Amino acid sequence: MIAIKKGTKRGNTVYTLSKTMRCPDCGRLFRRHVANGKAYWCCSLLTANASKCKSRRVREPMVYDTFNMMIYKLKANRQDLLESLIQRLEYLQSRTSENIERIRQIDKEIADLSAKNLVVTRLHTSGVLGTAEYSMQTSEISNKITELRIERRKKLTEDENDVMLDELKRLNEILKEYEPTSDFDEEMFEQIIESIIVDDTSRLTFHLIGGLTLTEEIKEKGRCRTA
Ligand SMILES: [Zn+2]
Repeated sequence: MIAIKKGTKRGNTVYTLSKTMRCPDCGRLFRRHVANGKAYWCCSLLTANASKCKSRRVREPMVYDTFNMMIYKLKANRQDLLESLIQRLEYLQSRTSENIERIRQIDKEIADLSAKNLVVTRLHTSGVLGTAEYSMQTSEISNKITELRIERRKKLTEDENDVMLDELKRLNEILKEYEPTSDFDEEMFEQIIESIIVDDTSRLTFHLIGGLTLTEEIKEKGRCRTA
């Protein structure tokens, strides 16, 4: 398999894998290097400072090969895995419009409470409201605001499920169309892969769109020896 170049940026060649592969030890991106005519990827810290990171070297063609294996399995289990997940999320989504309405209501309640707080403060400054009564009322207001903010945050995370659902549907469609081959489908890779964590020289964990995470073993004969 040939190395896939994306183009050149300020003299550095950008590859499809350039911004994808990460080291679980230091979180740095992997860097490509060529030895004896073969392309490898390893932690950028490792190339700079050999002792710091564990040796996590992966042969470039094996990244593509492992990706293909992962996709092959995911496509084979598409209905059990993806479609049932989509169904569950769609069931949850039916409550989303109520969420939006509630968030709007919470915003109004918070605004009303803030206005009330201002009135209470004015009454206190002008001497109408005693200090004890004033602090009781303001703390009551601030507690209510805190509760509302917590509820608002919860409702917002439920909305984030929507983005996830859209991505999972897109992933499902892409896989439905996909015909597995031994070639590396760069376009599909870019559409569905967010990052790859190189667990060690034998395993890659793929982070896909829709929050899906799948770990796949690198074929034994294609693994790099650990230093
Ligand atoms: Zn590292």
